[in-house]
Amino acid sequence: MLSEDPIKHLVEQLAKLPGIGERTALRLVLHMLSSERDSVPTLAAALMEAAERVHECSCCHMLTALDVLCSTCISISRDRSVVCVVATVQDLMALEATNDYKGLYHVLHGTLGPMEGIGPKELRIASFLSRITDSNREIKEVIIATPPNVEGEATALYLAGQMSGLKVNITRIASGVPVGGDLQFADRLTLSRALHLRQRF
Ligand SMILES: [Zn+2]
Repeated sequence: MLSEDPIKHLVEQLAKLPGIGERTALRLVLHMLSSERDSVPTLAAALMEAAERVHECSCCHMLTALDVLCSTCISISRDRSVVCVVATVQDLMALEATNDYKGLYHVLHGTLGPMEGIGPKELRIASFLSRITDSNREIKEVIIATPPNVEGEATALYLAGQMSGLKVNITRIASGVPVGGDLQFADRLTLSRALHLRQRF
């Protein structure tokens, strides 16, 4: 269906994105329609392709364009005895960029937030717990790398509680990451330190 006002329609769609208000959306649209007009089809095609092909890995819930499992989960060079639990895809990418961690991951896709109605069921927690149980003790350590803010700490505590009966070492990344900070914005060295100095939960 064609919209009456294509510019307004596009601005409305872009303004739904996080961090983009109507003013920024309008600026982007006008920029695309003037100097970047030739690359609009490529941008549209890239969006469509990503939306069609990218899905959650059936094991760790990282986003992937591979068939079922992501490249980390199928890699033979990763240490399968360690799983690092992160809140977001961006946090996983930040840890991966340190080039320092060779274990596996689990992406929760958020942190517990009772005020926003985000409980354990809204996160990928059940699949994480069955992953630990089903691993037949292949997984020996779980590093909880949720962010050091109120929600991240609450999530870490909840996860640790859920794992209390399981034969697995639980560690928490050290506070090299500033309290209240976001993993994805920490520099590589800080993240590396936080991983290396992790403590028993
Ligand atoms: Zn995976």
